Amino acid sequence: MFSKPMYREMLRYLRENGATSVQIAHYNEHWRRADHNPSQPIPCPTCYLAGSVSRLTSLPAVAGIAKVRCDVCHRFFDYKIG
Ligand SMILES: [Zn+2]
Repeated sequence: MFSKPMYREMLRYLRENGATSVQIAHYNEHWRRADHNPSQPIPCPTCYLAGSVSRLTSLPAVAGIAKVRCDVCHRFFDYKIG
């Protein structure tokens, strides 16, 4: 479940968009929870910075590029896998 490339991409996004270390620590908590319990969402970093937790849904990977989309703001994130 825990995807390192995805996690790295989300952290990069949070840092580039001004997340504080406290926000990042809380964001990491969400990841940990989602890792133990798949019914818990991996939060969309865009919505997270706006103060809400929205689920990211995985889409099929194409040519080694994985894609996820936020259920709420519909932003796409992609990252290299493998
Ligand atoms: Zn979102």
